Amino acid sequence: MRTPLVAGNWKLNKTVIEAYKLVSEMLPGLRMVRGVEKLICPPFTALMAVSRLLKDTDISVGAQNMTWEEQGAFTGEISPLMLAEFCQYVILGHSERRAYYGETDVIINRKVRAALAHELRPIVCVGETLEQNEAGIAAEVVSQQVRDCLQGAEPTSTDQLVIAYEPVWAIGTGRAATADGVNTFIRNAIRPVVAGLLGEGFSQGMRVLYGGSVNPGNAGEFFREAEIDGALVGGASLKAKSFVDIAEAAQGVR
Ligand code: PEP
Repeated sequence: MRTPLVAGNWKLNKTVIEAYKLVSEMLPGLRMVRGVEKLICPPFTALMAVSRLLKDTDISVGAQNMTWEEQGAFTGEISPLMLAEFCQYVILGHSERRAYYGETDVIINRKVRAALAHELRPIVCVGETLEQNEAGIAAEVVSQQVRDCLQGAEPTSTDQLVIAYEPVWAIGTGRAATADGVNTFIRNAIRPVVAGLLGEGFSQGMRVLYGGSVNPGNAGEFFREAEIDGALVGGASLKAKSFVDIAEAAQGVR
């Protein structure tokens, strides 16, 4: 049985004071949600404040990126060692990092292995562009991303690794994919690749999230699908009520 995970990716939003306010607003509602793992991924600058606020709660904290290096002359970078002080998770390979900062699967793979080595749980983002989708090569593209990003990764248990399937054309566009389409896609294009790398048992135990314009109105449709183990939520995680509503929608589905 895979525990659903509802993760909020705040992207480049919220100062420390704003983060404090938003988490304080969410906290009472999120605390009432049972049987669902809840995760907040604020910007680096707010990690310490948010992790302090969430200490002694069942809500996890994650970062949105990191380097694979541990320390040294890498100006401007943040390492897994530093994140491990505040975070349980780290989002890696988000399509915005791939598109705007040139991150390749090779880079993402180094980050995934470094995160695991520091007991940070990577949420590895994969997804096809609109052009790739329209060309009918989504499964091929995403299978290759999964293979390349996870090559040589050695998670010690199924909860150490999460994949987020996020079709690029669905992110921030208000145009979500269909729930049954995503379900089939995960079953046919993602889990078999993970099985090939890490074994069938691992593939069946590992969580795969959907991301792309998830909101309180459509979240339940995704969560009711057998292969979808939660959501990576962007825009809707910036409003307390909508994020709490999405987490509530994941309750009782498993
Ligand atoms: C995301 O940033 O990962 C995302 C899915 O964004 P949104 O929910 O806004 O589409």
